[in-house]
Amino acid sequence: MRGIRRVCLLLALLLTLACLRVPAKAASGISSEVYGFLPEAGFLGLVAPGTTEEAFFAALQGEGEFSLSSGVATGSVLTRSVDGQAQESWTLAVLADLNGDGVFSVSDMLMVKSLLLGLLTFDGAQKKAGDVNGDGAVTITDFLQMKSCLLGLSSLVPRPLEAKDELYITVSVSGEAVRMPLETYVALCVAAEMPASYPLEALKAQAVCARSVALYRIHTGVTHANGAAVCDNSGHCQAMRTEEKLRETWGRDYDKYWGIVTRAVEETKGQILMFEDSPAQVFYFSSANGMTENVEKVFTEKPRPYLVSVPSPEEPDLSTVTLTFDEFRENMKIKFDLEPTDEEIRAMEVVSRTESDRVISVRVAGVEVSGVAFRHGNGLRSTDFTWEIVDNTLVFTVYGFGHGVGMSQKGARAMALEGSTGTEILAHYYPGTTLGDCEAYLP
Ligand SMILES: [Zn+2]
Repeated sequence: MRGIRRVCLLLALLLTLACLRVPAKAASGISSEVYGFLPEAGFLGLVAPGTTEEAFFAALQGEGEFSLSSGVATGSVLTRSVDGQAQESWTLAVLADLNGDGVFSVSDMLMVKSLLLGLLTFDGAQKKAGDVNGDGAVTITDFLQMKSCLLGLSSLVPRPLEAKDELYITVSVSGEAVRMPLETYVALCVAAEMPASYPLEALKAQAVCARSVALYRIHTGVTHANGAAVCDNSGHCQAMRTEEKLRETWGRDYDKYWGIVTRAVEETKGQILMFEDSPAQVFYFSSANGMTENVEKVFTEKPRPYLVSVPSPEEPDLSTVTLTFDEFRENMKIKFDLEPTDEEIRAMEVVSRTESDRVISVRVAGVEVSGVAFRHGNGLRSTDFTWEIVDNTLVFTVYGFGHGVGMSQKGARAMALEGSTGTEILAHYYPGTTLGDCEAYLP
C-alpha cells in the first residue's frame, strides 16, 4: 500500500510540474545521492540532500496534513502541517524516464498526461501503479484523486483512494489479497459460477447469491490468512474468474457475455439476502434431483429455516461413473483407509437416505461411511446415487450435481424460462428471506 501512496504522490508531483511548465532537466546533471529509485513505479524521486528515501516516506506517514505549496526550478515544496503550523518542508522533484531515452524531459511528462487522459496505456506494473482508484483503468479520475490528495482536499490514506459511492472488498486471488470494487467482484463470481447463456433473471438471482456469500463472511468475521474477506476457491468461498481468464473462455463472445453478466449485477446492485435483520447464509449448487436438501444434512451447520428442502423444477440431470473393483478399493483406501474384498463390495449397501433421496450413509466392509464423504471419495456428482454391479465393475448412476443446499442453478434457469423473476427465484429457494442493502454490513 505504501507503494501506491508513493506512486500517487510522485505521479501527481510530476503532473504538477508539467502543468507549471517547470523547465525540464536532464537526470544526468544531478548528483546521484539525492535520488531514490522506486522500482515498482519506474520513477525517480528527488528528496532533500541527506534524506534517505525511507526517512522521507516514514515522515509522510506521520501525523498532520501535507500540502503542496510552490513549484521551484527543480521541484516543489511539500509542507507538512499539524494544527495549521508548518512542521517540515521537503523539496521534491519527480523524474520519470518513461520513454526510456535516458533523460527526463517534457516528452515524458506528455506521455504521462496522455496516459491519464486515456490516450495511452501502460503495461503491467506501470498500468497498475497509475490506477489509484483501482477501477482497472488509468484515467483522468486517478489524476484528480492524486491532485486532491496533494492539495489536502483528501488525505493520504494507506490504500488506494476509492471512487465515491463505490463499495470495496478484499479478495484473495490466487493467494494474493486484491482490493476491488464489490460489484466487480460479484460480476467475476457470476461469470465463473453460472453459464452467461442462462436467462437474465437466473443470472440476477445468482448475483444476489454471490454478493450474499461475501457479505455473510464479512458479517461473521471470517477472514483468510492474507486478511481477505473472500477467496477465489469454489471449495471454500466461491469461484471467481479474472477478466483475463474470461476473455480466454469467451473469446469473441466476451463483450456479449460480460454485458449480460454486468447487467444482472447492476440490476441487483447492493442487494443481499437477509433473514431476520441479518445477512443470510447462502449456498447454491448446479442441479438438483427434483428436491433441494436441508443444510444440516450436508454440512456441519445448524438447521436454518431458509435452507430447507424445496422442489426444484429442472429436467433430470443424470450422470454415470464406472469404477472397477480395484479402482473402487483404491478410492476406499485413500478416503477411509478401507480395503473391501470383492465379496464386501458386492455386499455394500445404502444404510439410509434423506427425504429427498440423498444418501446419508453407506455400509462397506462393516464400516458405515457418510454419503457426502463417499460421494467425494468416488468422484460422484451428488449424494443421490444408486449402483449396479456388472462383472467386477461398479456402475453408479447419479442424480443432480452438487451438494443440494439452497438454490439450484439449473432450477433457477428453468424457473426463469417459465417467467419467474430473480426475486421470485430467490424467494422460492430461500423461503422466508428478504432482500436487503449490503452497505450497512461492509466495514
Ligand atoms: Zn475462502
